[in-house]
Amino acid sequence: MVASESNASVVLGVLALQGAFIEHIHILSTIPEVKEVIAVRTEEQLNSVDALIIPGGESTSMALIAERCNMLEPLRKFVRAKPTWGTCAGMIMLANEATGAKKGGQQLLGGLDICVNRNQFGSQKESFDTMLHLPDALGDEPFHAVFIRAPVITSVKSDTVKVIGRLEKKIGQTDPETIVAVRQDKLLATAFHPELTRDNRLHSYFVRMALEYKQ
Ligand code: GLN
Repeated sequence: MVASESNASVVLGVLALQGAFIEHIHILSTIPEVKEVIAVRTEEQLNSVDALIIPGGESTSMALIAERCNMLEPLRKFVRAKPTWGTCAGMIMLANEATGAKKGGQQLLGGLDICVNRNQFGSQKESFDTMLHLPDALGDEPFHAVFIRAPVITSVKSDTVKVIGRLEKKIGQTDPETIVAVRQDKLLATAFHPELTRDNRLHSYFVRMALEYKQ
């Protein structure tokens, strides 16, 4: 738990069942509008936050752990009611559909009208970083985006899903213009790991979303 001195009143949660949650907690604690950051592992903790980040990691393991901890249903309810941002594996969890899923399928939380393809760029050695323009979220200044065994968004299923970021160059078999960031109302999803840079602008953008929906 990290508290800041500011008088803003937003409480952020980071799902801490599996994956890169610590990095998100650290970067959130640099944002003055965040009153408190909670590592969420229980339904009680989930109910105490205004907005949630679902980190990168391994969506199959994250779903299995969530199921064992009786967190799947509470999370499904939460993401339909409050601002939630899924990064990488978290984006897969938020998608209504996923291809390349584990044999026998894997549990998703859903909520975002998109289809994602897991591990689009192949294995770990196909991880890469690139500069992205996210003008709707961040204006003109590009963002250094780190992709690790990343998914991409292969289709958008509703007019209310706004594409906010695309790859700008061909990487492996993937064409430029491939969608890697979307927003649908209070849900945000990015295929990359913004918590692995020192740039907190996307976290600040999500905190503003959280403040907006709290009012
Ligand atoms: N490949 C992972 C998955 O399918 C996601 C990787 C990540 O979150 N860095 O869940």
